[in-house]
Amino acid sequence: MSKGEGIERLVRPSLSSFSGYSPHKSPETLKVARDVIKLDANENPYGCSPKVRQALASYDGFSIYPDAGQTELRKLISSYVGVDAECIVAGNGSGDLISLLLRLFISPGDEVVNFPPTFDLYRFETALSCGKLIEVPRGEDFSLDLASLKRVVSAKTKLIFLSNPNNPTGNLTPQEDIIEILETGVPLVVDEAYYEFSGKTVVPLTKRYGNLMVLRTFSKWAGLAGLRAGYGIFPPQIAQLLLKIKLPYNVSVAASVAVRESFKDIDYLKGRVEAIINERERLFGELQKLRFLKPLPSQANFILCLVLKGGARELCQRLEDRGILVRYFDTPRLKDYIRISVGKPEHTDALLRALKEVAEE
Ligand code: PMP
Repeated sequence: MSKGEGIERLVRPSLSSFSGYSPHKSPETLKVARDVIKLDANENPYGCSPKVRQALASYDGFSIYPDAGQTELRKLISSYVGVDAECIVAGNGSGDLISLLLRLFISPGDEVVNFPPTFDLYRFETALSCGKLIEVPRGEDFSLDLASLKRVVSAKTKLIFLSNPNNPTGNLTPQEDIIEILETGVPLVVDEAYYEFSGKTVVPLTKRYGNLMVLRTFSKWAGLAGLRAGYGIFPPQIAQLLLKIKLPYNVSVAASVAVRESFKDIDYLKGRVEAIINERERLFGELQKLRFLKPLPSQANFILCLVLKGGARELCQRLEDRGILVRYFDTPRLKDYIRISVGKPEHTDALLRALKEVAEE
């Protein structure tokens, strides 16, 4: 044995058997060689604004570090959201801010509440931060169980995460329920990654509730998932602390340029969001006509479907064999569901053809 071998014995014991995050499959790792239709990661099928591509191609400041204080970026985001720049912090995707919030609030053993089935990063980051995850499962219709929430909230509860609309179920939590959570006084993170598709936000409530924080991203509506840019709206003191503990250059200059150009081309991007919303409604109607699927209404850019016949995992594989990727979640509560991201009309058409083929097999 060479000197120093076996250092894996020295890693944090809680992480040696950590299950990790299971992301969607990357197209590079797939067996299907031809172009795939990617409806598995809630990405924007139209891509980013052409202005972003042009600006990045001609940008000549890549050798200079970004502004650690995110001065210009926070100002731009502040005018988009309509809150003071001192309340804004940008991240390397909104996932970065989830991670920073846990680092800021959680000491070992503190409790974090989430509402499964939901976005898995809350569980993943809580485990990495040595927090204890308290799960308050959603009801049959995926609405929140506030009575159970109130039973588990204690002095140890430091954060509550709510995805709104919820990924992967697509439903919105009514504002009255969010207010009821806020009244507990526990810091609440409302993750509005899909805000532009739902049109519903709790940002105005940040004026009334000092325990409300809101996360947003450029990954979905602005088509910047690969560049990594997200932000949050926080009480100013929390924003200050987050700026202090983040990696100094967490948002790259490329991402900052992309955000700036996206705001310049906002009408174009809003038009694409509109197209995705229209396509979501058409896709929903078409899926409803298939007798082996039951789609759930969605306020986001994806639709969760209960697979009534043949198995969800099998259906996912059959679609993949035909070059169409949708998301399967290998968890007890979601094992009979697939999540389909909304694509362009031609993607819907190809998906419907493939689903009909599979049904006839
Ligand atoms: N929150 C939710 C609810 C999401 O679904 C996602 C992405 N799937 C994110 C946050 C993370 O987005 P980002 O790309 O900004 O890290």
